Amino acid sequence: MLEQEPGSRPEPLVIPSVDHRLSREQFSDASRFVVERLADQGYPAYIVGGGVRDLLIGVPPKDFDVATVARPDQVRRLFRRSRIIGRRFRLVHIYFGSEIVEVATFRSGTLPSGHAPANLELSAAGRLLRDNVYGTEQQDALRRDFTMNALYFDPVSETIRDWVGGYEDIRARMIRLIGDPENRYREDPVRMLRAIRFEARTGFSLEAETAAPIQRLAALLATVPSARLFDEITKLFLLGQAQNSFRGLLEMRLLKPLFPWTQEMLVSDTGGAVRSLIEQALLETDTMIRTGHPPSLVPLITAFLWAATQQYVEWHEKEGMETLTAMHRALAILMREQQKHVAIPRRILDQVEALILNQIRLERGTAVTSATRLLRHPDFRPSLDFLRLRVESGEAPAALWSDWQAFSELHPVAETLPGETRPAHRRRRPRSRTPRPS
Ligand code: ATP
Ligand code: MG
Repeated sequence: MLEQEPGSRPEPLVIPSVDHRLSREQFSDASRFVVERLADQGYPAYIVGGGVRDLLIGVPPKDFDVATVARPDQVRRLFRRSRIIGRRFRLVHIYFGSEIVEVATFRSGTLPSGHAPANLELSAAGRLLRDNVYGTEQQDALRRDFTMNALYFDPVSETIRDWVGGYEDIRARMIRLIGDPENRYREDPVRMLRAIRFEARTGFSLEAETAAPIQRLAALLATVPSARLFDEITKLFLLGQAQNSFRGLLEMRLLKPLFPWTQEMLVSDTGGAVRSLIEQALLETDTMIRTGHPPSLVPLITAFLWAATQQYVEWHEKEGMETLTAMHRALAILMREQQKHVAIPRRILDQVEALILNQIRLERGTAVTSATRLLRHPDFRPSLDFLRLRVESGEAPAALWSDWQAFSELHPVAETLPGETRPAHRRRRPRSRTPRPS
């Protein structure tokens, strides 16, 4: 029956290295060792996914994943330093120093025709709940998301096995979902975000049928656990393509289900100030990553929430509330609401809150008696950096930032004074994390 599945071939197209020009040396020693060991024991195994895709495109791969016919316990037994992980589906992690090779057993998903095998669990809306169903190499290829992510590299013969036309699509610089796009987005709406991420990362185009349903189905993201959405947000914004990712989200109307207030403020942004601040923060985020600084979502999320907090503050001030109190009130409401969409970890929210509150303190200028105290605030630097973003977007006077800059140079303080650590964070809420799909 699989042979008749549209979008798949009865046999894989086997592309020799003279054509694809990848050689086994481009893959990590660890991933090749794992594949060769499995093959020696009679288990066909390949390097698959992002690693193969990235090498074909010519960008450095993040990691190399392995897919094999061997079951997790069989893999586990072959490698001493390995462990089985995952709830939604079981994977094996094999440790080689700092490198981890993730080994997944071939699985089957819904078939491109939209039929689900009997033991695949779907929600009433067609969302994939469990897919721990083992399958053949061909089924494993078909359950993957985009054709470019379903190429199997065999380091022994240096061939690429292609069941879905991914090799041609990469050559045509095309991102194409495997199977019927609407069904595939319904069974996992995160694929819409992955489409945007790969578009931003590769500069390829979304194939027309892959792009078409996204705007219409964007609201389905609300059905995805908010912790998994946070993981996706991190990948969208902290891999050096924040600007492109944001544009993609806007174009496909995917911002609203993630950051509804940001979207709302952008809609009523007649002067362009809201967009401008966000663009500055996106640029800053990409620059930090390019220049090797530790990546952080804090400035970006602060920029996302800034305009909405300002609006709340204005409302409360009209009712006669003092600015700082109004700001506390605004933040409490916004953060609570925002968490319903994307589960942003508490430590990030605490910092966002500090950056926003410190803007009011910074706006009082350097002449007030509390100015030196602010210098010692653990988030003084990032707060001043955020003020700079506001200046660059034309929202705050440049003199305010330069005064503070000069003032901080005149009054150097140790980053953190003895006994003055970051305040113990209020409550540590356990964050439920869904395992990473592979
Ligand atoms: P990256 O370089 O960002 O890690 P990747 O393609 O390797 O990109 P992973 O999340 O590491 O992405 O997933 C590995 C592989 O698993 C993908 O290449 C794809 O084949 C498959 N995959 C991941 N997420 C999904 C999904 N939501 N639906 C179907 N297949 C998926
Ligand atoms: Mg990967």
